[in-house]
Amino acid sequence: MTACLPCELEEADAAAVVYRDDTWSCEIASGYDVPGWFILRLRRHAEGWSGATAEELAGFGPLSQRLVAAIQQATDAPTVYFLSFGENYPHFHFLVITRPADLPPELKGAAILAQRAEHRDLDAALAGGAEVRAALAVSPL
Ligand SMILES: [Zn+2]
Repeated sequence: MTACLPCELEEADAAAVVYRDDTWSCEIASGYDVPGWFILRLRRHAEGWSGATAEELAGFGPLSQRLVAAIQQATDAPTVYFLSFGENYPHFHFLVITRPADLPPELKGAAILAQRAEHRDLDAALAGGAEVRAALAVSPL
């Protein structure tokens, strides 16, 4: 079996962990370390929407709302994308991408993924992640 990046994030450095509870975790992932990009994932290996339990999914909505609010508070971004392909890693997860206000129109939507090639910056991603983590820590449950 090939390595599962979302599972491997269980071992992420504390600095890369933006949020974690018993069920869900959000990290900055090596290889996807563009500032403002995060992986939101079920902590256990479950594949696709059908692999998640109703209880797990019940927590997804409120957490996603809090995460978006924290990202927007930390960055002033007008919107936050949630992308779920499940192609490289079937483990239930989302690529959460902060869409900056000044992003050129041709890079909006799925085209933003092209930024991965040239905009990775681990230090900047971790610094931004710390701001989102701080915003989440004081947000209502
Ligand atoms: Zn996995």
